[in-house]
Amino acid sequence: MALKTAQQYEDSLRKLKLKVYLQGELVDNPVDHPIIKPSMNSVKMTYELAQDPQYEDLMTATSHLSGEKVNRFCHLHQSSEDLVKKVKMQRLLGQKTAACFQRCVGMDAINAVDSVTFEMDNKLGTTYHKRFIKFLTMMQEEDLTVDGAMTDPKGDRGLPPSKQEDADLFVHVVERRQDGIVVSGAKAHQTGAINSHWILVMPTIAMGREDADYAVSFVAPADAEGIFYIYGRQSCDTRKLEEGDIDVGNKQFGGHEALMVFDNVFIPWENVLMCGEYEFSGLLVERFAGYHRQSYGGCKVGVGDVLIGAAALAADYNGAAKASHLKDKLIEMVHLNETLYACGIACSAEGHKTASGTYLIDLLLANVCKQNVTRFPYEIARLAEDIAGGLMVTMPSEKDLRHPEIGKVVEKYFRGVASVPTEYRMRILRLIENITLGTAAVGYRTESMHGAGSPQAQRIMIARQGNIEQKKELAKAIAGIPAQ
Ligand code: SF4
Ligand code: FE
Repeated sequence: MALKTAQQYEDSLRKLKLKVYLQGELVDNPVDHPIIKPSMNSVKMTYELAQDPQYEDLMTATSHLSGEKVNRFCHLHQSSEDLVKKVKMQRLLGQKTAACFQRCVGMDAINAVDSVTFEMDNKLGTTYHKRFIKFLTMMQEEDLTVDGAMTDPKGDRGLPPSKQEDADLFVHVVERRQDGIVVSGAKAHQTGAINSHWILVMPTIAMGREDADYAVSFVAPADAEGIFYIYGRQSCDTRKLEEGDIDVGNKQFGGHEALMVFDNVFIPWENVLMCGEYEFSGLLVERFAGYHRQSYGGCKVGVGDVLIGAAALAADYNGAAKASHLKDKLIEMVHLNETLYACGIACSAEGHKTASGTYLIDLLLANVCKQNVTRFPYEIARLAEDIAGGLMVTMPSEKDLRHPEIGKVVEKYFRGVASVPTEYRMRILRLIENITLGTAAVGYRTESMHGAGSPQAQRIMIARQGNIEQKKELAKAIAGIPAQ
């Protein structure tokens, strides 16, 4: 089976024996948990749209391994066009879910691991790439969701992994056996972990010789013995436990992050993709981060489209749509949003082939893309709040609206233009609240800042790739200063 239906995906998750803690309790059935389910629905959308002929070109690709049609989330980019389509697919999914649909971390991980294992084998004579291709074949055949897991808790940021007081603050090899390795540690902020079939672990920073035990990459089933998860809290998450569907802002979709803990997990050699080759750790981080920085030029833009639409509706419902300053604010939001998209497309169009054949984005432009993402969604959110007005955060609840007596009062005093029901106005304001302050704000705001690396990480890459020396030579040539 090359493409799973959305229902088959949901059914396959039910078969997993994930150990998940949420608000201090072990969750019996993550798939049907009201706090988790909206995030599963977002991943489901990556399966659903792949079945829809109108989105086939974006959502699916032809596997370079089998020649079969596969979900683009399981595909290795074979051209710059593939890279562009990836960003377009992510924008589409952002528009359809107004949330983080999570599956990109696995796509970005396989693309990074492919080229790095290939180059590592060439240089060191290891055999990791063959193992990786075996895994990828299964991933494509079974249309798996894979969690690309990179970020370690990191403890004292001033110390390398091997100097931490607690060795588990970075995932590391605790034992090398004839049949495999045993690993311990944790990965933090793991997007979509509870909705994934497998996990692909990568190291989180460039490492030196003394950190060789921490330079480890592997794949494991998400429910492997010794792995457990602690679900991350989100602002307003318990609204999902309430009756009704207005106050939650986005009833159907969401995203999630979790702490993923490895308690002496055995990994057979066939699933190990790096074990001690510390000199390739930095390259893997750079490529994964580069792909994920490209990703944000798609997904955040799609969510931005929904937010801009919601702000425009809020203006309509307030009867203020004709005010020139509101029109101008909407123009500014579109300008910022499309600038992010332009960066996502540019770093893709300027992509190039790596030694394995897989295409890599232009790293400078991908880092510029993400640097802009650390700023523009905040400005877009600020403008949306400006347009929405204070009612977004002072409005009574859905229960008040539905109340047999005070419902009429809510209906009367919170109506804007007479032709639009108060309920619609409340729904739009709650959606803006959800994206800017609620559960989706994790993906749209703070993740825009820190996801795929905090702003300083991009500045380091921009400094490395910016080529100031060459620019000096350009200036010298124009100014008539001899080159040295
Ligand atoms: Fe995909 Fe965006 Fe979520 Fe990352 S934040 S997993 S790129 S939707
Ligand atoms: Fe992310």
